[in-house]
Amino acid sequence: MRILLAEDEKELSRALDVIMKHNKYAIDIVDNGQDAYDYIMTGIYDIVILDLMLPVIDGITVLRSIRGQGNMVPVIIITAKSEVDDKVLGLDAGADDYLTKPFDTKELLARVRALLRRRSDIVPKVVSLGNLTLNYETYELSTPKDSIKLPNKEFQVMEVLINNPRVVISFERFLEKIWGFEADKEPNVVWVHVAYLRRKLIKLDADVEIRATRNVGYALVPKDE
Ligand code: CA
Repeated sequence: MRILLAEDEKELSRALDVIMKHNKYAIDIVDNGQDAYDYIMTGIYDIVILDLMLPVIDGITVLRSIRGQGNMVPVIIITAKSEVDDKVLGLDAGADDYLTKPFDTKELLARVRALLRRRSDIVPKVVSLGNLTLNYETYELSTPKDSIKLPNKEFQVMEVLINNPRVVISFERFLEKIWGFEADKEPNVVWVHVAYLRRKLIKLDADVEIRATRNVGYALVPKDE
């Protein structure tokens, strides 16, 4: 799960960075509205925590702009205590939830979990292509022959592939989506994980394969196509 935090108070964002990582979330942090908009529109985030009082572009404008572009990522807005109207404005602009500063980080974590749960109610628990199935709850990759539990990163690579069958996904897209902006971007890391997955597909007798397009990326394709 990847979180974007848009917050210009350094102390608060540093604290949230530590807490989110401790709770196994990947997190990127921006400190102004322009970056918030640009990062959100990459489409790689599962949830956004958006302070409303941001430099360059304010949070409400960011929210209206992304919703106007059809981006429906769950957003929790953070407002200062005195800004009651902002809370209403934020919810009207398309926020899913709000917190008033100062807040308990446990409260924030509970809101994040609730929003992610709400989203997973509408996300199917398994995705299939050919005889291959990926289970979101058990992290298992299976065929009628057998199943293998995937490590975190391999699961994420397979998740991207199986949700976009036959579509060539670029190395950059994998890096952004799975390793994030902070990671040192070594395209090799994608290659290594794909190599592991290919071995597992063979072991499972899958009738789909990960096909490489030279210097572009990878696609999951039925073998007979
Ligand atoms: Ca602020």
